[in-house]
Amino acid sequence: MRICVLGLDCAAPEIVFGDEGLKNLRRLMQDGVWGHLESVIPPITVPAWMCMCTSQDPGSLGVYGFRNRTDYTYRGLGFANSGSIRAPAIWDYLAEQGKRSVIVGVPPGYPPRRVNGISVGCFLTPNTQKHDFTHPPELKQKITELVGQYPVDVKGFRTDDKAWLKEQIFDLSRKQWRVVHWLLASEEWDYFHFVDIGLDRMHHGFWNFFDRQHRHYQAGNPYESLIPEYYRWLDQQIGEVLDSLERDAIVLVVSDHGAQRLDGGFAVNEWLIHEGLLVLDEYPSVPTPLEKLKVNWSKTGVWSEGGYYARVFFNLRGREPQGVIPLAQYESFQDELKARLEALTDDQGRPLGSLVFKPKNIYRRVEGIAPDLIVHFGGLLWRSIGSVGHGRLHLQENDTGPDACNHSQFGMFILRAPECRLRGEYRGARLLDIAPTLLDLAGCPIPPGMQGRSLCAASKEGS
Ligand SMILES: [Zn+2]
Repeated sequence: MRICVLGLDCAAPEIVFGDEGLKNLRRLMQDGVWGHLESVIPPITVPAWMCMCTSQDPGSLGVYGFRNRTDYTYRGLGFANSGSIRAPAIWDYLAEQGKRSVIVGVPPGYPPRRVNGISVGCFLTPNTQKHDFTHPPELKQKITELVGQYPVDVKGFRTDDKAWLKEQIFDLSRKQWRVVHWLLASEEWDYFHFVDIGLDRMHHGFWNFFDRQHRHYQAGNPYESLIPEYYRWLDQQIGEVLDSLERDAIVLVVSDHGAQRLDGGFAVNEWLIHEGLLVLDEYPSVPTPLEKLKVNWSKTGVWSEGGYYARVFFNLRGREPQGVIPLAQYESFQDELKARLEALTDDQGRPLGSLVFKPKNIYRRVEGIAPDLIVHFGGLLWRSIGSVGHGRLHLQENDTGPDACNHSQFGMFILRAPECRLRGEYRGARLLDIAPTLLDLAGCPIPPGMQGRSLCAASKEGS
């Protein structure tokens, strides 16, 4: 029984399930089970794909985003890579049964994972000309012969040059799918898993041209239909894959999170300065990343990182080198700051509706160095701006380049598996359910440490 997983990074359920023109996805929906898929907190590419493949929440993996604290100093964050994920993934369990996997672009996938089979690095690969990005290394040569230098991402996708960006995304995806079709046909595999990152870049680059609710949407703009066009192009690629597979192959089309408009950015460190919780030696005259500023740590209680969500860190006495918040007050301070963050308003003075999470409340385990609070400003309709020097709290521009979209908590899945008797829409599926479901369908025992459950188990019991 072969399993083919086609990952569409950031695929939005409302588009996938709403567009009747996506003929091949319709075909899969008719033959299988589909629905919203609740992502992890935070719903971010790293760690979400590996949460899916290991059925472990971010706290249990000790990976809270692309960048994580590696110690309790003020040195800043380190980047996650494939070695950051130590929990076994679905392909590791399948390898115990002698099954062979092909893993392409599953983040974090650099350095390339050593799997029983082959793997190709993800968008975190620095340079596919200079570095080895495949396992085994000699696969690189064959890929290069097929498509030239293999692209892993559109570097600089946060740009105003939209004509260039459109070309680059299609070039990236054409080459990646060409490699995928070739690997599907030429390699021996029991488990195949590809992640298309082009869709995520398309959303971040073009969501304001597409979503009528977006503040910067203009009717009749030249890119209005580009996002739907890209979905239809993906649908054709998926159709080709379906045609090439045997009829009883298990097929899963799945996303790590959804997409939604971005209303703006909240300058979280500006707010902490305003509240007297973050103290700088000198306030900058131009917007400047916090790590380039002189923080007066002996007077600072809290600082934060920017990005799609905010990671808020406490300067705790006995933990950080110049900590000021007494350990005995940790929980009461955490509660108080949570309430203050939840009470924030938007640029019109309306409640922002931010979601503020304590790691120990949302994760089964808290490994590594977690943020002390995780904040989804406006339920992620606002992103977190970490730089300082804006002179205000609400911004329309993003400090790391133009970005029209943020992630949303619900991605999507469509599963076609002849063994699974479920049909039609399924409610209540979670990202952590994917690995146990696929192992169950493969006839493998579900490891007891996995945090999700097989979606198909109930339907099989009734058979
Ligand atoms: Zn993603």
